Amino acid sequence: MLQENDIICAISTPLGEGAIGIVRLSGPGAYTIVSSIFDCSKSGNPVYPEPRRLYHGHIRDKNGTVLDEVLVSFMPAPYTYTREDIVEINCHSGIFALRAILKRVMDSGVRLADPGEFTKRAFLSGRIDLSQAEAVMNIIRARSEEAVKVAARALQGDFAAQIGRIRDRIITLRAPIEAWFDYPEEFAEGIPSSDNLIIELGKLQGSLQVLLKGVERNRAYQEGVSVAIIGRPNVGKSSLLNALLRQQRAIVHEVPGTTRDMLEGYMNLGGYPISLVDTAGIQGTADPVEKQGIERSRAAAERARMLIVVLDGSSSWTEEDSEIAGLRGQGQGLVIVINKLDLEQKLSADAVRDNYPDAEIVKTAALTGEGIQLLEDAVTRQLDLVLGKAGESAMLVSIRHEDIICEVSEIIDHAINILDNQPIELVSLELQNAWLKLGEITGDTVNEALLDKIFSEFCLGK
Ligand code: GDP
Repeated sequence: MLQENDIICAISTPLGEGAIGIVRLSGPGAYTIVSSIFDCSKSGNPVYPEPRRLYHGHIRDKNGTVLDEVLVSFMPAPYTYTREDIVEINCHSGIFALRAILKRVMDSGVRLADPGEFTKRAFLSGRIDLSQAEAVMNIIRARSEEAVKVAARALQGDFAAQIGRIRDRIITLRAPIEAWFDYPEEFAEGIPSSDNLIIELGKLQGSLQVLLKGVERNRAYQEGVSVAIIGRPNVGKSSLLNALLRQQRAIVHEVPGTTRDMLEGYMNLGGYPISLVDTAGIQGTADPVEKQGIERSRAAAERARMLIVVLDGSSSWTEEDSEIAGLRGQGQGLVIVINKLDLEQKLSADAVRDNYPDAEIVKTAALTGEGIQLLEDAVTRQLDLVLGKAGESAMLVSIRHEDIICEVSEIIDHAINILDNQPIELVSLELQNAWLKLGEITGDTVNEALLDKIFSEFCLGK
């Protein structure tokens, strides 16, 4: 694999107004380049700057005009992010100031880094493995605290270590088969029986499934979960959306059918970024526009990972409520809200129980805010339940990893089938494939094209 070692540079902070912006350089000789455009405030630029110390001064253009007042730090190889010499120029953050300094650096013969190239160099130099590099990106993109925690664990190498252990187990299974195949006489004793191998492969499959179990939750942390609020018109769905979002997002009106289309708002509960969808009330109607809205409600309910079904506590159970009860999909999270708690209660508890035997029920008054905290707790509990939080495990970092684990799981299944009626040595080949495939997660067995694709999704300057 080609390890490039020219000097690269990029603006490593977001482009926008801010106190500080950083232009970063990485590569052998990076300090010499900066030294040629930097005027240190102390008598002259140090030839050998003290590592990791800030030097105050100015960057000048080629005519000697000051571009900005800056602080420059030098981090020599190998104890840096890229394992190369790194120089950081801390300047004032403004698009033009940053660009002017970047251009000055580039005019001195430094190449603009590709997206993710600093991290790619960290990977190519062996400082981090590929799953850790991807974790860096996930930390940058995280939309919730929980997502940061998952990615930070992967960055520390927990996930890579788990993959490493599975790969080691594959080698342990494969070794006696290979030895016996090469030296049938000497190793005839050590060859495992098909029955034993099936048991061991089953255990391996179990470990893969544990990893896959964390996928959905991890994806929920990363990408968010959709929660749909459904119910008849006028039960208080929009009022609940507003109460949960703590803002007037939806129009609340006593005329049924006010929400004819869907409204979406975002909130964070229990570490899950949630997209909360307020749907049009479901009822029999002849109005074509309302009909369309209702169809969309059904579709949104189907797509959602979880439903909040709202019932009006101040009115009796209706046919439409029964119809709505039928919308819950397999495995979908569910919380029942009995709203309008402040009014005289007429809803039959039996009807609710008959239609939602094991559901969690919360009573609210969206108008006064009563019960909203209980509703939030119930939603969080339900999401933890459907996303399997109880079975804590190191989690997958990306969809790429999920695809790989699924593929490896299929290979192991195939190996188990082989043991049914084919020679045991064929299993060894499958184990080899599984081992190689798993190596793509950490980057041990990955090709250049795939690497380019992964790193091209990174942001500039990282
Ligand atoms: P949606 O059609 O289900 O979205 O219902 P809305 O949120 O638009 O509310 C319909 C009507 O019920 C409005 O007049 C609300 O003010 C009223 N409403 C909503 N929640 C409550 C509540 O908890 N108590 C009372 N008394 N009225 C409520």
